[in-house]
Amino acid sequence: MLKVNNLSFSYNKTSVLKDLSFKVRQGEHLSVIGESGSGKSTLLNLLFGEYDLNKGQIFWKDKEILGPKYNLVVGYDFMKYVSQDFDLMPFITVEENIGKHLSNFFPEEKKERTTELLNVVELTEFAKTKVKTLSGGQKQRVALARALAKQPEIILLDEPFSHIDNFKKQSLRRSVFKYLKDKNIACIVATHDKEDVLGFADTMIVLHNQKIAVNNSPETLYNNPKTPLIASFFGEFNVINDKIIYAHQLKVVEKSDLKATVKHAYFKGHYFLIEVDLKGKTVFFENENNFKINDTVYLTILS
Ligand code: ADP
Ligand code: MG
Repeated sequence: MLKVNNLSFSYNKTSVLKDLSFKVRQGEHLSVIGESGSGKSTLLNLLFGEYDLNKGQIFWKDKEILGPKYNLVVGYDFMKYVSQDFDLMPFITVEENIGKHLSNFFPEEKKERTTELLNVVELTEFAKTKVKTLSGGQKQRVALARALAKQPEIILLDEPFSHIDNFKKQSLRRSVFKYLKDKNIACIVATHDKEDVLGFADTMIVLHNQKIAVNNSPETLYNNPKTPLIASFFGEFNVINDKIIYAHQLKVVEKSDLKATVKHAYFKGHYFLIEVDLKGKTVFFENENNFKINDTVYLTILS
């Protein structure tokens, strides 16, 4: 179990993270979300022991994770970190990069492990390719595989699919997160993409104003987003009568108190996102069919 107790940190005078406490169990998947600049990357760096804390403690099991002031070498065998700069060896091949830290005493095992990981990150056909010729997304996948090579107990991933195109992203996400679950590896994933969270994360932390605003399951937070910030992470939403209502929770009916005028319609694939004016306020709802500008619609809130 990872335990973070009352962690506070500032780079210089301005505090970035204040009094954070949370736990991650073995094999658990935790998402850390928050706006750009909210401190997600900083938190992962701290968990890895890159910086000294101003206050607080971090433990993996009984081992305290210490910053550079108390620890000569950053990094542990039980913990791997895939940061946003991948730090690969450009002039050797993909498989050599992945196997870099695997022992040559067991060539069979090394080969097997590398093959397995190439498969997880869907890079089998690039095994013999030099890393310097790869795209950003491919490099990101090599970095992931290398971090997994020595089977850590916990892995920290900073926006792990940010450079990967939409064609590959969905299947890669499933493959990597399934691998981590199967091997019972705890993971902490910093992200601003709800697709990285829904269907994968057990727990989700929202960083806001230097603190943990909420810590709960994605399902609970989705169904009851306490603040607009949380709702906005999950999708298009409105505040109607002081309540947060997702765009898909509004439905067109024949007559209601919520009379609105259509302002714009966005094609979204299997639905249209309709922007309306409701008593001077902009409101969004989802509808199977399109509307014309200035059409009048009556809306109701689905419970
Ligand atoms: P996120 O990953 O959520 O976008 P970061 O952890 O990168 O956020 O940044 C949090 C805050 O700390 C930001 O205000 C950022 O400008 C600042 N910051 C990040 N890295 C450094 C650094 N090395 N030195 C000083 N300030 C930094
Ligand atoms: Mg970041």
